[in-house]
Amino acid sequence: MAPFDLVIFGGTGDLAMRKLLPALLHRFVDGQIGTGTRIYGVARDARSDEAYRGRVREAVAGIAAADPRVAEAVDAFLALLHYRQLDLASEDGWPAFAEEIGHGPDRVRVFYLAVGPSLFANVADRLASVGLAGGGTRVVVEKPIGKDGASAQVINEALGRVFEESQVFRIDHYLGKETVQNLTALRFGNALFEPLWKAEHIDHVQITVAETVGVEGRAAYYDKSGALRDMVQNHLLQLLCLVAMEPPASLAADAIRDEKLKVLRALRPIGNGNASQMTVRGQYRAGAVDGQAVPGYLDELGGPSHTETFVAIKAEVQNWRWAGVPFYLRTGKRLAERMSEIVVTFRRVPHSIFGDPADGSASPLAPNKLVIRLQPDEGVKLWLMNKVPGPGGMRMREVAMDLSFAETFGGRQPDAYERLLMDVVRGNPMLFMRRDEVDAAWQWIDPIRAAWEAGHDAPKPYTAGGWGPSAAVALIERDGRTWHEDAQ
Ligand code: NAP
Repeated sequence: MAPFDLVIFGGTGDLAMRKLLPALLHRFVDGQIGTGTRIYGVARDARSDEAYRGRVREAVAGIAAADPRVAEAVDAFLALLHYRQLDLASEDGWPAFAEEIGHGPDRVRVFYLAVGPSLFANVADRLASVGLAGGGTRVVVEKPIGKDGASAQVINEALGRVFEESQVFRIDHYLGKETVQNLTALRFGNALFEPLWKAEHIDHVQITVAETVGVEGRAAYYDKSGALRDMVQNHLLQLLCLVAMEPPASLAADAIRDEKLKVLRALRPIGNGNASQMTVRGQYRAGAVDGQAVPGYLDELGGPSHTETFVAIKAEVQNWRWAGVPFYLRTGKRLAERMSEIVVTFRRVPHSIFGDPADGSASPLAPNKLVIRLQPDEGVKLWLMNKVPGPGGMRMREVAMDLSFAETFGGRQPDAYERLLMDVVRGNPMLFMRRDEVDAAWQWIDPIRAAWEAGHDAPKPYTAGGWGPSAAVALIERDGRTWHEDAQ
């Protein structure tokens, strides 16, 4: 890739150290980032380039230790890094910063806003005032894009005053995951699935994003957000869109984003009248995760709170393709397992020739399932009914055809940020959210939150290390279905 400049505002923060710089290092190792590229970390502390490089060296020590190719490349990568002290909330220091960054008008310049959204407007205005907002400039913004529709608009308008929409890259790192991109490949690269991809043949869809971690010392920050805003508004709805969208005409960014937008706009509204039947929110209590005792959310926060650390929703896409097909979404912290997956459950066969489960002459035929595992152990399983080998009559059992990414493709699975950062440099917005998508997602989310607030009832407690409140099990079981559990 031609040399470029990447400025990480918030270059000493958790996101920069844990995700962005390791991702850039991997791209460097693979030869995608060449000499001549400059990577700047920006924060308020005074610090030399050398001190910054030392800090990044520590941050990547783990990945360097695990791979000799990375270890060999670290010094050359660190030589691309620089540090600049700048208070993003202030007007001072920008002209000097611009002088350094601004040379080479044709160069691609990426400004990654790895800072809180309250700084976005000032950063956009300052970049414009020092002439750094022109054509070659791209800005990357992280979630949260607002805490509701109104605040998202304020952020998007502040960015829109300065940048064209094509210059703004709103990251949802789930979209950069290999398995999520593979969902598009599976659906539209195979003739097998698309004819069946509709209400006539699909019974329901489940999307689970489960974390074992709690709020990790950031309870005060998390308490202003909660699982609905932090996970559902972006990651889960984006996954739902990719499952439910109509086939786009091409892989062009707007072709895909137009289709995702239609799904968001077709979601059945959930609000005061139906939130109690269609949603469950929970909050973890003390328990044990991976054999370790962990405190409850309120103990970590040190006070009362109605913020949810778990949410389950029965969503419906109101269009011809999906009429009557529920999309069960659930996400939570301090659950039994760290796991994200999409499960598409097909309808049962209309008639079994293998005996009648009602008279005990056969066990019921399980419906086919396509399970797309996003993490860990990325891969795809297709669950099919098979005859159990042997002479014991026609005994049937559910067996998975297993396509493990690690086994099939070998090697390291690149992190989502690697793909996304390189797409920003290339100027390819396919895996980023357009402004109208963000607005449409909030339009669906805001009434759910409003209904919860109007109801005044507390989130349902659940024990850390379980699968959320029992009401989340009831949400799906009262429809005669169950949450998927991998049997093999
Ligand atoms: P963090 O660890 O608190 O880091 C914030 C960074 O911003 C630090 O480098 C901080 O350095 C700098 N900063 C803060 N105020 C500044 C100012 N006025 N001027 C210049 N620099 C300033 O936060 P983070 O976890 O990296 O998250 C950054 C943003 O990304 C947040 O909006 C977060 O919601 C979002 N995000 C994070 C993750 C993640 O995995 N961490 C994932 C998704 C989204 P100084 O204090 O020294 O200035």
